[in-house]
Amino acid sequence: MLINFFLGAASFLELVLGVIIFGQREKGKELINISFGLDVLVVSAWVFSALMFRLVSGSTIMFWCKTQYVIGAIVAAGFLFFTYIFPEGKIRIGRWKQVIILAPLIALITMIYWPGAFVKQINIAAHGKDVFFGAISYPIYGLFIVFYFTLAFWNLIKIYLKRRGLIREQLNYFILGTGLTAVSAITFDIILPWFKYFYFWAGTISSLAMVGFIGYAILKKELFGIKIILTEILVSLTAILLLVDVFLSESRLEYLWRGALFLLFVFFGFLLIKSVLKEIKLKNQLAAANEELKKLDKIKSEFLSIASHQLRAPLTIIKGYSSMMLEGDFGKLNEKIKDVVYKMFQSTQGLVLLVEDFLNIGRIEMGQMKYDFADFDLSETVKRVVDEFAADSKKTRGLKLSFESDGGNFNIKADQNKIRQVVYNLIDNAVKYTEKGFVKVFLAHHNKNHKNLLLKIQDSGEGISKEMLSKIFQKFSRESGASRLHVDGSGLGLYVAKKIVEDHGGKIWVESDGKGRGSSFFIELPLNK
Ligand code: ADP
Repeated sequence: MLINFFLGAASFLELVLGVIIFGQREKGKELINISFGLDVLVVSAWVFSALMFRLVSGSTIMFWCKTQYVIGAIVAAGFLFFTYIFPEGKIRIGRWKQVIILAPLIALITMIYWPGAFVKQINIAAHGKDVFFGAISYPIYGLFIVFYFTLAFWNLIKIYLKRRGLIREQLNYFILGTGLTAVSAITFDIILPWFKYFYFWAGTISSLAMVGFIGYAILKKELFGIKIILTEILVSLTAILLLVDVFLSESRLEYLWRGALFLLFVFFGFLLIKSVLKEIKLKNQLAAANEELKKLDKIKSEFLSIASHQLRAPLTIIKGYSSMMLEGDFGKLNEKIKDVVYKMFQSTQGLVLLVEDFLNIGRIEMGQMKYDFADFDLSETVKRVVDEFAADSKKTRGLKLSFESDGGNFNIKADQNKIRQVVYNLIDNAVKYTEKGFVKVFLAHHNKNHKNLLLKIQDSGEGISKEMLSKIFQKFSRESGASRLHVDGSGLGLYVAKKIVEDHGGKIWVESDGKGRGSSFFIELPLNK
């Protein structure tokens, strides 16, 4: 009884596995799945015929006994055929060789079904069914099967030795599973019966090893969509159990009630599988959409970079001429015109900075940010920037600007232009977001051992809210009111600044006690000794 159950289970599991493999269609590799899927289905039929041979009585015993051997031969030939397709998905042997594989199979089948040739007699004994085989046909059959399998495994091992990576890992389990099944099938169905030991069930049940190993390979290496396979197996197993339950009913009412339960389960099981399939499809679509977005992002970066390059030249010209006009190079300007030109100069200046940020974003995202490292004294650079702002009274609107340092050497090895840009950006922000009060710039030696320098830019301005503090160095992040107050901001400056500082092995951070309470930006950079 237990044996019958295992045979039934093995046959069923192989049926499921076969259908799953058969149903998978990897592009260009369809032949692999078709041939192996079919072979697993034939294995399922082989186990089923062994079960039938045990169960039936009367005249059909002979038929099932022979069928068992016929299907065994088909499995062997099919498997050999498969090893000529795996792993490329194209048949590697010519037509003649295909005939050479097929012809003996047909001969074997004819021979097995030939009355009185292969199976001479079956005796039904108390311990089971004893079979008497033909003295010549039986060894011929045995030799062919052994030959088919040996050749098949020879092929697989050749592939195994030639390949590396995933295919090799998959083959590990595959060869183990099919090998175990083949060896025990040959032992229990061919060799032992010759010596009158009849354990037909042992060989067939061992095909569970194949299911197990291949199933494991599927789970571990995710050969196929694992979730759907698990769901399918679970639903099918439960359905089968319920169906068996139906047939075990003892009264009509029970029969109806269990039957209804079975149908209901099949219905919901079907829905479950469908929903899992849908989920997998959705996931794939999401992944594809994500890919698409990444591509778009790249195109955007390239576009930005090209557009910015085109913008830079005319902007620099406008900025240059308006600056010359303000300095009186084209004659003295009256106050009204001076005011207009100043506004032109200011907004072009803002645009130049913005374009510079765009260019840097493009470079950062395409991994093409380049630095010109050189030695220079940072305190001079900072002082010059502060002076530049201090000279522009319109911009600073009466803010108190100051610069202090604890003296000594502030030599760093860095890209002077880029670091200047960062300092400029921070002071510009401080001035921009401070209505009244001060902007103080400090430069100090940070550590006791004078390894780092610390630049602090403190303002008495609008401050930064708690939730903004954590996001401020992200791309396009601006305080919610910022765009209202300063329409010309982009939220890119600090992102670029962080990237530049970090690429110099430094750190940048911000502190603020909250809205309306001013903010301090810090930069720490390694000193060059
Ligand atoms: P932008 O100034 O162009 O908007 P930034 O990246 O330089 O872009 O700054 C991002 C945001 O951080 C600003 O929009 C502003 O809300 C806030 N911020 C930056 N510096 C200060 C500062 N000194 N005081 C208050 N808020 C600031």
